[in-house]
Amino acid sequence: MSYLKNIDPQIYRVIRNEISRQEDNLELIASENFASLAVLEAQGSVLTNKYAEGYPRRRWYGGCEFVDDAEQLAIERAKDLFAAEYVNVQPHSGTQANMAVFFCALKFKETILAMDLSCGGHLTHGHPHNYSGMFYNVVAYGVNKKTQMLDYDEIEKLALKFKPKLILAGASAYSREIDFKRFRAISDKAGAYLFVDMAHIAGLVAAGIHPSPVGFADFVSSTTHKTLRGPRGGFIISKNKFARKLDSLVFPGIQGGPLMHVIAAKAVAFAEAKTKEFKAYQEQVVKNARQFCESLKNKGFDIISGGTDTHLLLVDLSSRNINGKLAQELLQKANITVNKNLIPFDKLSASITSGIRLGTAAVTTRGMKEKEIALIADFIDRAVKNRDNPQELAKIKKEVLDLTGKFPLYPELKNNG
Ligand SMILES: *Cc1c(COP(=O)(O)O)cnc(C)c1O
Repeated sequence: MSYLKNIDPQIYRVIRNEISRQEDNLELIASENFASLAVLEAQGSVLTNKYAEGYPRRRWYGGCEFVDDAEQLAIERAKDLFAAEYVNVQPHSGTQANMAVFFCALKFKETILAMDLSCGGHLTHGHPHNYSGMFYNVVAYGVNKKTQMLDYDEIEKLALKFKPKLILAGASAYSREIDFKRFRAISDKAGAYLFVDMAHIAGLVAAGIHPSPVGFADFVSSTTHKTLRGPRGGFIISKNKFARKLDSLVFPGIQGGPLMHVIAAKAVAFAEAKTKEFKAYQEQVVKNARQFCESLKNKGFDIISGGTDTHLLLVDLSSRNINGKLAQELLQKANITVNKNLIPFDKLSASITSGIRLGTAAVTTRGMKEKEIALIADFIDRAVKNRDNPQELAKIKKEVLDLTGKFPLYPELKNNG
């Protein structure tokens, strides 16, 4: 970064600081990951200079022959990876992918049935301050109070009662396998479109560890930067019959020029996701999440639904007499990064919460396995017990630094800075 260092030392500093932060912290935010150097190189390339409104071979600008190749590769690789008929790789984010799907499937004010935010749904699944909540009539389904898992009979009842035009499956904080076949059956009975938002689990789906929604859902959306470990962005999968409408809703409907550097990086990530190393990685991600549940349960923590089938787990802190906000702040003092999270039927507000959400995608990318996860669970337990003991928290932080030091973010760069 020698040019940046000379020309803009302030931003250079910011990036340096962020590199150190990522190196020195245990990243347990379930929606985060560390993209490969190949992804970073594609994303940091001159492709950012190019305007390419339109789609490959039908652009509004000249000079698109090479970025066309990048987008074509991204599309073909995503189709191959997810056995998809149609893919659009232009959405700048998961939120925009979802917006295009909503606009494609629905008229304003029509009814959607989606997962309640406090049970794990995403902002774009009907939050009143998001377009999804502003433009549509939202009916929410939750989880069963006892099992804390999806209750398909209950979802079916709601679907038959409210006759939504679209049923949305997928979540940001739900740790269990989702039965897409059952969702399809419910949608058919209710005469609704089925839309699956697989933003969190796309990497698991790509690796065949979580069942794929493709084939069951009319629309599938995703991000590329969570378990899929690509650049920050979104994409859409659907049947060919929606291809034209979705294309024109993404551009010119809701976006202008596509981010060709990001699309190239998406292509790289889709290729990486085809490898056997990626499959082994995703298997380890789930093993680590299961180990995390076991280790935390052994320390007396309550895990929502009692466990996990994915990369994430939701910890109910109520019995440990600490809320999510305080736990997040406390753990940050020990260089452990987590986010506070509502738990099903939470009695506290969204800005305080009774839980934290933990994910293993990022630490597994660093090479950590069950042994390290058990150690991290121990750090968390000790931090919670010693919340008023700065010396002990400093000691935990030192142990975290010992651990992160053994698992460099980009070991390929170790010897050349
Ligand atoms: C992260 C996420 C999104 C949105 O992704 P952004 O890229 O942040 O807009 C959408 N849906 C679900 C379920 C998510 O977890």
